[in-house]
Amino acid sequence: MEILREIRWQDFLDIVFVSIIVYRLLLIIKGTKAAQMLIGLGLLLLASIFSGYLGLYTVNWIIQSLWAQIVIVLIVLFQPEIRRALAQMGEARFLQAFTSAEELKSLDEIVKASVALANRKMGALIVIERETSLKDFVEMGTPLDAKVSKEILLSIFHTTSPIHDGAVVIRGNRILAAGCFLPIALSSDVSKALGTRHRAGIGLTEETDAIAIIVSEETGSISLAVAGKLESRIDMEVLRNKLTEIFTTSEARRVPKRPSDFRETV
Ligand code: ATP
Ligand code: MG
Repeated sequence: MEILREIRWQDFLDIVFVSIIVYRLLLIIKGTKAAQMLIGLGLLLLASIFSGYLGLYTVNWIIQSLWAQIVIVLIVLFQPEIRRALAQMGEARFLQAFTSAEELKSLDEIVKASVALANRKMGALIVIERETSLKDFVEMGTPLDAKVSKEILLSIFHTTSPIHDGAVVIRGNRILAAGCFLPIALSSDVSKALGTRHRAGIGLTEETDAIAIIVSEETGSISLAVAGKLESRIDMEVLRNKLTEIFTTSEARRVPKRPSDFRETV
């Protein structure tokens, strides 16, 4: 009872932090060579206690001198793991959540812009980068580095804009560049009716894991190209759902890394 009365709120905090640290450490080492090392260390500790208890002075002396070196041995042995753990700590969770919330907002702006462009029959080609870098295509265009918004996308694709020709490349919530030239799909599977804008969208998504939204100037329809396949005449809801599915579910982020992987799922 005496002890209970002496417990401060800081002690609870202390226990919570230590539990979290121990839990995270156990998660990190689970199934790795560190787990075996931990068993080894446990045995060494037992041997140290028993040798002291039984009065085995030499064994105890050897073990005691080993303990002194163990920290250095551990750091050397686990240098890659320590580095990885520190790097993971650096990528703060809240920062990731923030980025994805920003990205979701930018997807919404892209959807709204596509619909507005389609309603006005303004041709557009919007490319969103995923794992494969689109640096080469960005370099060919006009650099922008602007925050994604419906208004900016509408301004870019307005026929009087000097950068309305070509594609806009988006990474996360930034428009990297406009007026980018993309590789055109030449394969005979592509419908003859499709012009160069649609072929450019297909061509890029054949070569990379990026996705392309194409707004037709002629018909005012929206198409989505993923992994070299074009889904034509989609409405706002379908576009929104597809984009959200591709960019939010971790499954979609992981599985269709290569265009060939995506084909089975589309
Ligand atoms: P729409 O239905 O809008 O007419 P389309 O598929 O019929 O599209 P075109 O009429 O040939 O295509 O559209 C030409 C426009 O497509 C160009 O003005 C240019 O903005 C864009 N475009 C064409 N080729 C490329 C390319 N390789 N990379 C990026 N954009 C391109
Ligand atoms: Mg055309």
